[in-house]
This record gives sequence, C-alpha cells and structure tokens, in this order.
Amino acid sequence: PEMSGAHLRISDVSKAFGGNKALTEVSVDARPGAVTAIIGPNGSGKTTLLNMISGFYRTDSGAITLDAHEISGLPSYRVARAGVSRTFQTPNLPEKLTVLETVESGRYARDRVGILGAVLRLPVFRRVRREDRLEAERALALVGLSAHRHELATALPLGNRRLLEVARSLVGGPKVLLLDEVASGLDEDELDVLASLITRLRDAGMTVVLVEHNFQLVLRLSDDIYVLAQGKVMAHGTSAEIESDPRVMQEYLGV
Ligand code: ADP
Repeated sequence: PEMSGAHLRISDVSKAFGGNKALTEVSVDARPGAVTAIIGPNGSGKTTLLNMISGFYRTDSGAITLDAHEISGLPSYRVARAGVSRTFQTPNLPEKLTVLETVESGRYARDRVGILGAVLRLPVFRRVRREDRLEAERALALVGLSAHRHELATALPLGNRRLLEVARSLVGGPKVLLLDEVASGLDEDELDVLASLITRLRDAGMTVVLVEHNFQLVLRLSDDIYVLAQGKVMAHGTSAEIESDPRVMQEYLGV
C-alpha cells in the first residue's frame, strides 16, 4: 500500500449529548510519520473524538482539517475517501469471506454502500480488479498474514483478526489510520507483532492515531500523547513527559 500521511488537526472541538459535555474545546495535532496516542479513563471522550474525526458525529463547534482541507461536517464515507481510515473496537469482520476477500472488501466497506452493501453484492468479489487484488495482497504481506489468505477470516485467532482489520484499513491508500483499542485481548507475542507493524507504518510516513488502554504499549509506541479527562485535554507531551507527570498518573492510573 502506498503510504503518505496527512496532517490531521483537531482545533477546539466541542460536543455535547443533551446536557452531557462529552468534549470541551479539544485540540489534537497528529503529524505524518508520527504515532499520536489519545488516552484517558473510561468516559473521558476518546470514542466520541474518533467518531467526530470519522464523520459519524457532527461537531458542535471547532474544526477538523486534513492538510489544508476541512473534513468536519463531511459524511463518514467522504471522510474515508479523503484518506481517513479506521479500525473498530470490536472486530467487525464479514461472515463467510476469506482473509484475502476481507481485505479486498475494505475498499467497498468505506464506500457509500457500506459493508452490508459490500457483502450483499458478493459477486463483485469475483470480479475484483487486478490492481485491487495486488493491493490487498500487499496489505496482507505487510501484516504477515499472506499464508492465511484462503482461510475464513472469522476463524482466525483474535490477534490475527486485529492484524487483518489493520490490513483491510490499509487498502485504498489512507493517509490517516485511526486505531481504536487494537491491542485489547492480545497476548505478549501478538502485541509485539502489532507494535512492530505500527512502527513500520509510522516510519513509512503514515499518520497514526492510537486510542488505547494499554498504557505500556502507548508509552512504547507514541511520539505524542494526549491525555483526556472529562472531555478535556488535561495533558499533552512525549512518552517521557507523560510518564513523569504526577497529575496524569493520578488521573489515569489512580496512583
Ligand atoms: P471513552 O471512549 O473515553 O470511554 P466516550 O467518548 O465513549 O468515552 O464517552 C464520553 C462521554 O460522552 C460519556 O459521558 C458518554 O456517556 C457520552 N456519550 C458518548 N456517546 C454518546 C451518545 N451517542 N449519546 C449520549 N452520550 C454519549
């Protein structure tokens, strides 16, 4: 997959659900060739922020831009077309597709028809364009799943399903990769594979945004960390800065 990141800027974004302020004037800067982590306790607004970036929710105020282009206000399929790709907390793999077909479906899943349309139009996979197949093969090779290409996606162990989700999100040449809790449920070996994959994507120039509970993994991988608490950025810095910030340790880890 071709990899050139785009600069994702979230500027003073606010969002309330009824009277509940989920996000208050949140600003996050995610650069190409960097891993930017968003962490914080449950209910601090991480998922809401991802949903705003992907165009699932509209912002109440503030702006989200990709390079010079505003993406806030666009529907999710247009945000995806602009180059923002994401994985979901619960791996959401279509039934009855092989590993290779699942990666090929990434392109259609992000189009207007959505994943359901992609699955209902199954015959489309029998006529996958040659270049799409090659791209899917390259994405699979990148995550180390080529040997499993003809297995059923849903039959893979969890660690491999997560890698498969990342592969699927890589087709179509995204500029920004939003990873939502990709590490949850993985064992140490699987975490190492995932960490080296994320590092390679970053080094290839991708803009990587990591929403993650695993604090050790975040410290190990991130160039920049934003800590959310009650819908606000309560701290921002490098791994070393965040790790040595007593307020963060207290808020986030309760120590
Ligand atoms: P996190 O991902 O950090 O656990 P969330 O973004 O899920 O936090 O939640 C932030 C706040 O926004 C919470 O108070 C949550 O209840 C609220 N919230 C999130 N989504 C919705 C929604 N669709 N409707 C109403 N409230 C929501």
